Amino acid sequence: MKVGVIGLGLIGGSIFKRLKAQGYDIVAVSSTQTGENIFSDYSALKDCNFIFICTPIHTILDVLDKLTEVIPADTIVTDTASLKEFVTKKSYSFKFIPSHPMAGTEFSGYKNSFPELFDGAKWVITPYDNTDTSPLEKLIKDMGAVPVYASPKAHDKAAAMISHTPMLIAQALFVASFDDDLALKLAASGFRDMTRLAVSNPEMAADMINFNYYNIEQSLLKIYSVIGDLLKNYDKDFLTEIALKRKNMYDKNGKNIL
Ligand code: NAP
Repeated sequence: MKVGVIGLGLIGGSIFKRLKAQGYDIVAVSSTQTGENIFSDYSALKDCNFIFICTPIHTILDVLDKLTEVIPADTIVTDTASLKEFVTKKSYSFKFIPSHPMAGTEFSGYKNSFPELFDGAKWVITPYDNTDTSPLEKLIKDMGAVPVYASPKAHDKAAAMISHTPMLIAQALFVASFDDDLALKLAASGFRDMTRLAVSNPEMAADMINFNYYNIEQSLLKIYSVIGDLLKNYDKDFLTEIALKRKNMYDKNGKNIL
């Protein structure tokens, strides 16, 4: 199997490094990186069996269009974008399986990519048609990740709740403290942990808000309503139940065990 990667940033670089280490025949298309098996032109992808698109969310549809001109109909393509419904609104001339690796760091770019990024991470597959997903499953498992299936709509709603809205709240919390010098001076680990997502890749953050606005708004309304209910009935038993449920969600290494 010959694999292609488009966009050697954090995600694409990590896929490239990991699959190369696993012995795959792999090529990449990059506008900034050079090296063995790295090309600047899409023609390098024409004999690939499988292609990962790893460019920013707002560029994915253009990249999919460009691929139409280069690859044959039996090539399988996945994109790794953090949102999944927007890529399902069109039809493609090749086999397409949207997916999303639930792994990342606050850093971006090839220099921050590393082959172990996906170890133990969930990798969501949101099938688009009846294309056989087993080749993607095998690649995901070879990168140390765990395939999970969802519909694009359910994925985007869940991503808003666990990723995009927390990022927005972290940014808002940090901005809200800007004019309180004493608060910023006293802030320790709790504030640091709560605002970690404010250190997000700004381009990706803006894409998430623009592309998932409705779901983020719905998540915020739900959280607002839960805060109201919680405050009205700040009950010790319920707080104990919350703490236990949160504790049991992760193992001692911080891995989600649900
Ligand atoms: P990144 O580190 O910024 O890398 C994106 C790469 O895309 C760049 O290094 C560049 O690669 C290429 N690129 C940049 N602008 C482009 C443009 N206008 N047109 C075409 N290519 C362009 O971002 P990333 O974190 O790897 O994210 C890549 C994708 O993975 C996004 O769709 C994101 O939603 C998704 N994702 C990110 C995370 C995360 O936590 N970071 C997690 C899961 C999924 P070259 O320099 O090689 O051309």
